Amino acid sequence: MDCPSCNKPASALWAYAFSLQGVSVVKNLRGYLKCQHCGALLRVRSYGKQFWYMFIPAAILLIAFAFLFPTLSVKLGTIATATIWMFILILIAAVFGYGLWKFAVLQKVEPKAGPPAS
Ligand SMILES: [Zn+2]
Repeated sequence: MDCPSCNKPASALWAYAFSLQGVSVVKNLRGYLKCQHCGALLRVRSYGKQFWYMFIPAAILLIAFAFLFPTLSVKLGTIATATIWMFILILIAAVFGYGLWKFAVLQKVEPKAGPPAS
């Protein structure tokens, strides 16, 4: 996610995940952040098409595993299979978390423009 104001990365992944990035909690939840380089107030406008492509392998993986679940639970046991399932879900959540940061399309919020129409 590059800052539209200075064309540098607006936020580090760890900051995106674990900090408020210079805005209030409410604004953070609404997709606002401040650029770490130039301090411009930014808003997540949409996500790049690469982000939406991530749904395809994730869906295939989940559907494939759902089909394999009965076979695997017989071979490996229910707990082991459920553990693998958990790991797959955590992996997908982590990849999507990364995608939310990596492929976010940012928009500069002009201070005098008032609250942006949503
Ligand atoms: Zn910037």
